[in-house]
Amino acid sequence: MPLRLWMYDLAREQAPTLDHLMGLAAVSLDAGYDGIGLYLEHRFAYPGLPWARGTQALTPDTVRRVRSEFPSLQVVPFVNLLSHVEGFLYSQGGQGLREGAGHGMQACPSRPETTAFAQKVLDDTLAVFDSEIVHIGGDETWQLGDCPECRARAEASTEDGKADLFAAHYAPLAQRVVAAGRRPAVWGDMILAHPAAGAAFPKETLIFDWQYFGGVAETAPRLAAHGHEVVACPTLHVYDAAWMHTGPSEENVRRVSRDALDLGLAGVCLTTWEAGLFGAYDTVLPAVAWARTAMDDPDGAPSMLEAYGESAEWARLMGEGLAELGGVFAHDGHRSRLKSRFLLFADPFSLWRHHGAELAGEAGRAAVALCEKAAFFATDEAQRGVTAFVRGAVEFCQLTDRAAVHYAEGRPEKALAALAPLRHLFDTLERVARDTHRRIGGSLADGERCGRARERLEEVMRRVQKYGRGELGYLPAFDVLTHPRWVPYDQACWWLVNRWGCE
Ligand SMILES: [Zn+2]
Repeated sequence: MPLRLWMYDLAREQAPTLDHLMGLAAVSLDAGYDGIGLYLEHRFAYPGLPWARGTQALTPDTVRRVRSEFPSLQVVPFVNLLSHVEGFLYSQGGQGLREGAGHGMQACPSRPETTAFAQKVLDDTLAVFDSEIVHIGGDETWQLGDCPECRARAEASTEDGKADLFAAHYAPLAQRVVAAGRRPAVWGDMILAHPAAGAAFPKETLIFDWQYFGGVAETAPRLAAHGHEVVACPTLHVYDAAWMHTGPSEENVRRVSRDALDLGLAGVCLTTWEAGLFGAYDTVLPAVAWARTAMDDPDGAPSMLEAYGESAEWARLMGEGLAELGGVFAHDGHRSRLKSRFLLFADPFSLWRHHGAELAGEAGRAAVALCEKAAFFATDEAQRGVTAFVRGAVEFCQLTDRAAVHYAEGRPEKALAALAPLRHLFDTLERVARDTHRRIGGSLADGERCGRARERLEEVMRRVQKYGRGELGYLPAFDVLTHPRWVPYDQACWWLVNRWGCE
C-alpha cells in the first residue's frame, strides 16, 4: 500500500504539549493516516544542541510517549540540515553557520561547523525517532554559492556547481541515515532545479515532490529519473491566506493524489505550513482528515467543506467568501500580506500604508460584514478566534484611515479618538493568541506581536498629540508619522530617502 502521511509544522512557533500531540495523533489515526510527520527545525530539544533549545520545544520524552501510546502510527521526523535552519542561525551560538551575513535562512555547506551541526541534528533524530523514514529536508537552498568560499567551489565545477555543492553536503547525510538502517527522504525542489544532484543520493532515498499549484505529473517522473521512489505532496493553503483558501487546497489535494495514483508513486504526504500569525491548527484538522479520503478517491471524495459539518458555512465564508473579495484576500500564492503586514513586521500601520485604501473602502466593509456572519456560524472558540483576527486587521485599517482624515483636517483630538479603541483590539487579539496557545499549542510569539503592535499604537498616538497641531511648523504626512523610523525635525525623512541604510 502506498504511504499516507500528513505533516504538522511545529517549526513555526508551535508549542504543543503532550496532550496536544496525543490529540493530533488520534486525529491522524482516526482519519486513516499511516503516520504523522513532525516538521521540526529548531523546535525540537536536540540533546546535542542545548544552546538552541527554545521554551516548550518538543522533547525526546514526549516523542517516545506518543509512540508508545500510538504504536501503529508512524511518527516521522522532518528535520532540515542546510536551508530553513533560521532558528539556529539567529540563536546565540549559530551565527558561525550562516551562509549570508545577517540575512537568509541557510547554513554554509563549505564550513566544517555546518557538517558537524547537521550530523548532530541527524544523530539526535535517529536516536529519538524510531520511524523507518527520516526526512532530512533540503528544500529552498536558494543561497547555494553565495559566500566567497561556496562561490569559488561552484565556479570550479565543470558541471552544475550548485548541484555539486548540494550533493556534497546532502549525499553523505542521506548515507548516514541508510547506515543507521533507515530510509532517508528529501524535498524535491532543489533536485528539480539541479537535476545532477539527484544522482548522488542513495537509491533508498524517497523524494518528496511538493507541488502546491498543480499536480506532479510533470515533476515526479523527473525526480524518479535516477531510480528513486517519489512521494507526492499537496498542501493546505494556509500560509498564503487570511485563514485558509479552501478551494485551491481541495483542488491541489485532489490533483496531486490523482497523479500519484496514475503514476503509481510511493505515497502522498499532505503538508500544512505556518500556523504562526494567528493560524489555529484545530481549525484545519477537518481538512486534514478530509485529505486522507481524497488521497484514495480523488474524484469521488465529497467536498472539503462537507468535512466541516456544522461549521461548513463558517469554513465557506472564511475559506471562499473572503478570497472572493479580492485584493489582499485573494489567492495569489504569496505569504499572506494581510497577516504579515499587520503583525509580522512589528508595525501594524504598515497594513494601513499598503492596503489602507482598499480596507478602509468597500472591500473592508464587505470583509467586516462577512466576518460578522462567519462569527455567527462559528461553532467553537478556535473559529471565533480566527474570525476575530481577520476582522481586527480590517478594523485597524478603517480606524487608522479615519484618524488620517481627522489629522489632515487639523483635528488631532478627533484623530486620537479614532485610534483609541485600537488599544482594546490588541488586548482582545492578545487574549485570542493566549487561548490558541493553551487550546492547541499555538504561537507564543503572536501574543508578543500584539503587545508590540499596541506599543506602536501608543507611539503614534503620542506623536499625533505632540505634533498634530503643527508644532513643528508643518504637519508631517500621516503615513510617515506612523512609520517606526520617523523622528521630528527630519522633515525630509532621510531615513526613508536613504533606503540602503535599512538593509
Ligand atoms: Zn558558503
